[in-house]
Amino acid sequence: MNLLAPWANEIKAVGFDLDQTLYPDTPQIQALVRQEIYRLIAGAKNITESEAKNLFEFEYKKLGRGTLAVQNILNISDANDIMQACLEKAGVDKLLKHDTQLVELIKEIKSSKKTFLITGSSRKNSISKLDKLGLKLDIFDYVLCIDDPNSDKLYGNPFQQIIAKTGFNPKEHVYVGDREKIDITPAKNAGMKAIYVWGECMNADASIPTIYDLKNILGLRW
Ligand SMILES: [Mg+2]
Repeated sequence: MNLLAPWANEIKAVGFDLDQTLYPDTPQIQALVRQEIYRLIAGAKNITESEAKNLFEFEYKKLGRGTLAVQNILNISDANDIMQACLEKAGVDKLLKHDTQLVELIKEIKSSKKTFLITGSSRKNSISKLDKLGLKLDIFDYVLCIDDPNSDKLYGNPFQQIIAKTGFNPKEHVYVGDREKIDITPAKNAGMKAIYVWGECMNADASIPTIYDLKNILGLRW
């Protein structure tokens, strides 16, 4: 379980997604985000929020993924931006708590490697969420938020921007995220290693059940 990755000693920079990566997706967080999704569907389809809820839950049961359900309901090919917007509006920071183990993990990584954050969240919301977790934005050597130029993980080039800033070889970076399409695939396309967290992803270089398992995968001593 979570053995040292064979490429771990090549890694010089460790990057993170923020939402649902530095904290787990809980039923309470899901409920807050769902409310925003229902509101958005209701507005787009000109139906009540209760009708939107039924529609979403029906599609969700069928498809098993919120993003796919929204794509189907709104008849669009990519709902990733919409899902992130709902997450932003949901104000999940009020549910986040100080996480000593996470703070220690990031500090330990920082003692021997560069760190970076690439998030689909705005700088203002990122600061607020990190603050609740016990982290400051400047604990990361490099930070790209969605409101920075060309920093959309799907349509911009944040991974390439980080590689240009560190000056390291692309494969000396690893990015940790919870979404295949917006975290794992674009990081790998940029030549970075990618670790999927809080679940399993066939296309990632490694999958870990919790963010704290990074210490085993990266061979950190603490
Ligand atoms: Mg995420």
